[in-house]
Amino acid sequence: MATPTVPTAPSGVPDELAALLADDDALAAAVDAAEMPALLPALAHLTGELDLVDDALRPPLRLLPDRVEPQGGMAPEVVAAARERALAALRRFRDSGMVAAPEPATATLRRLMRFVAGDVGDEYLPLMAHELGLPDDVGAPGWTVDEVAPGRTLDVVVVGAGMSGLVTAHRLTQAGVGVTVLERNDDVGGVWLENGYPGARLDTANFAYSYSFAQRPDWPHQFSARDDIHDYFRSVADAFDLRRLVRFGHEVVAAEYDDATARWTVTARDRDGTEVVLDADAVISATGQLNRPKLPDVPGRDSFAGPAFHTARWRHDVDLTGRRVAVIGTGASAYQVVPSIVDRVASLTVFQRTPPWMAPTPTYHAPIPEPARALARALPHYPRWLRFLQFWTSVDGRRPFMEVDPDWDHPVSVSARNEALRRALVANLEARFGDRPDLLAKVVPDYPPGAKRMMRDNGVWAAALHREHVALVTDAITEVTPTGVRTADGAEHQVDVVVYATGFHAEEFLAPITVRGREGRDLHAQWGGDARAHLGVHVPGFPNLFCVYGPNTGLVINGSILLFSEIAVHHVLGLLRELLERDAAAVEVRPEAHDAYNARVDAGSARMAWGVATVNSWYRNAAGRVSQVWPFPLLDYWRMVREPDLAEYAFHPRRSAEQNARA
Ligand code: NAP
Repeated sequence: MATPTVPTAPSGVPDELAALLADDDALAAAVDAAEMPALLPALAHLTGELDLVDDALRPPLRLLPDRVEPQGGMAPEVVAAARERALAALRRFRDSGMVAAPEPATATLRRLMRFVAGDVGDEYLPLMAHELGLPDDVGAPGWTVDEVAPGRTLDVVVVGAGMSGLVTAHRLTQAGVGVTVLERNDDVGGVWLENGYPGARLDTANFAYSYSFAQRPDWPHQFSARDDIHDYFRSVADAFDLRRLVRFGHEVVAAEYDDATARWTVTARDRDGTEVVLDADAVISATGQLNRPKLPDVPGRDSFAGPAFHTARWRHDVDLTGRRVAVIGTGASAYQVVPSIVDRVASLTVFQRTPPWMAPTPTYHAPIPEPARALARALPHYPRWLRFLQFWTSVDGRRPFMEVDPDWDHPVSVSARNEALRRALVANLEARFGDRPDLLAKVVPDYPPGAKRMMRDNGVWAAALHREHVALVTDAITEVTPTGVRTADGAEHQVDVVVYATGFHAEEFLAPITVRGREGRDLHAQWGGDARAHLGVHVPGFPNLFCVYGPNTGLVINGSILLFSEIAVHHVLGLLRELLERDAAAVEVRPEAHDAYNARVDAGSARMAWGVATVNSWYRNAAGRVSQVWPFPLLDYWRMVREPDLAEYAFHPRRSAEQNARA
């Protein structure tokens, strides 16, 4: 894949742009294929022609219950006018010697951002600039350990080299922190490495699913396939030289804080079982949420005679051609697997406990047309603004449709808006399954939209379920036998292969690592199965232990999980800088700040569909509390987390060697 950076300031015009501008037909095709709400600000950015972002051309970006409008909802005649203006501007740029305008002043940049986002409050602007990546690498720490505390070193162990671990390692390295990443797998990429099942792909828009500091201009799809996403993370590791920091094949088994030295001892085991012990000032957990496969606790599970495996441990050595296959589960993984294997199996029995809601997304598998990709490769700033457009449309996404109206009284919706969404989604299901009343009766959910993860529907799921050799079984599974799966009605569904698409132990943060903090306290005993962390990052009693993508930072419907990790890392670096400036040894959240925050989170969850609905979902832990996902708007995470509120933390002093000897 291409280097994951947007072509930067066009002082030297890229060759690809010169070539595109020289070819009138290619240029017209590129403009035809472009997203106008992104192309117009990109061109204004490049040329300085601000009339390109006239109010008359502004995209309305309406929030509709069931779909995202193409071209930001611009009327066809406005799109046509915008194309004409864009083409003319490109030609003028070419004919006047391709001289780029200077980088926009702040006021101009705001005008460009507001062209896309509308008249949003000033409080959004720093977040928006961050996501545009302007100025370049705006999220970099901007300080180093050497500058802040000359002569002192700071060593950090990062657990995991997935999406969160990579950004953590990169930012810490920029600040001159010593970093060792311990990764149990043999490559970077986390879930994108582990989930190699057929059909795995993104279900959030792709440009926005990338780091602000490593934007990729030429994504092949709007929702890219797993290999492209995995390649992206690998290329980020290469571009920022992060692999040298990673010890692959090392699974962390324990981390222990020493009160006397205020340091952590981290124990990892390599593939041979050899233990490696590292000593560090701090530990950052970037272990993610969806990486420990959960198998259903049904009798006879181990008695099955044929191959049986979890989607995240896909057996590529098992050829499914002509086999009778069971897929257990109808979550996001099953939803992608089933249509991908349906053509090659002899029969497919899909076991559904809870049907998913499906959001119509006709372009879910569609490639980005080549002229649009060519434009993104060639035209400086266009991919940046495209990413911004996707980011903005997902900032709060359909979140308002999931908010609970306390006065709304309905068994399967939580507000009038939620009900409108539900009806639109039911209408879509009726269109997909209306010809098969037997299936329709099984696939319409009886819980509010937003209570659990929604699927992207381009018709392939319904088409697969319609096939003659496919059965959708909704009777409860009572047993796995040597030859199949038995259900509550007594039937044995005989199969050759069982695929468990049954999800992950999302609620068991940092499991199965033994973590001991101050005075020997055990993290998992303290949590008692109900993980909580201040801002998703800090746990009282565990100084200098930080989580990135920790409790209550997953996303249901709004925003970008990569941005959350970028924000959390910035927060941690802010505290580490403060620690150095105070010449302190460790930082720890004050229990009262932690408790107040968690009470606020719980109250926030109770205002969202996923917090009030009782349907099964991986968002809730065994205690019934939503401990995995973020209940507030995305901007709140930026405002609450990015710059730490120092009053919420205690800084433990450094002890002299003498004090340590006495202790
Ligand atoms: P999941 O959403 O937790 O789904 C697990 C499925 O297994 C559910 O349908 C569940 O039913 C079913 N199940 C569990 N135990 C069962 C039993 N004993 N009998 C019958 N059915 C049983 O797991 P997932 O599909 O792996 O997805 C997890 C998350 O990973 C997603 O929500 C998403 O955030 C992420 N993901 C993302 C993508 C992507 O496109 N980017 C793809 C895959 C996964 P219940 O619903 O009744 O519990």
